[in-house]
Amino acid sequence: MKKTMLVDLDYVICSPGFLPIVNGFFDTNYEEDDFEEYIIDDVFGEKAQDFYDYYVQQDGYKDAVFKEGAKESLERLSKYYTIHICSACVMFGAERKSAKLFADKYNFLIRELPFLNPEDIIFTNSKNIFKADVQIDDRLPNLQGEVKTKLLFDAYHNRTITDEELQNQGVKRVKSWKEIEDILLDNM
Ligand SMILES: [Mg+2]
Repeated sequence: MKKTMLVDLDYVICSPGFLPIVNGFFDTNYEEDDFEEYIIDDVFGEKAQDFYDYYVQQDGYKDAVFKEGAKESLERLSKYYTIHICSACVMFGAERKSAKLFADKYNFLIRELPFLNPEDIIFTNSKNIFKADVQIDDRLPNLQGEVKTKLLFDAYHNRTITDEELQNQGVKRVKSWKEIEDILLDNM
């Protein structure tokens, strides 16, 4: 029987098209490394709702950029693991405008990762309710469930979390899909 794996999408499999859309709307040139927090509300200020109205008219994944080797690694891992993409679609501060994001993510996933079973996709902001063998996410608050191997994917907003803190929570930081494969395929 295959093992089960929960894999986050944004900033784990790809950088989504979010920041390019922010830059288009605000006429800025932000890059991920300009931020230390996941939520970048400061940029939106009073224009937050105007921005979200604009955002949901765009394809949130048109300018998504895959992490190196992510697609190929997922395809190899899918031979040994049932892969559940586990991704949040409800936007903080724009909960009632989030429906389009579900569609954008779903279309992106079935187009770009055709080897995955669409029925295994999970869209939720409540990622800690699942049991799994492995979970990969870039947000530590999402790695609190009943999971044996918890991997934090290195990202702009999680670099201040110390190794000690991660160790206390039973989480290991990974910086690439090569590293993930080395860990997960080691005993296969
Ligand atoms: Mg993420």
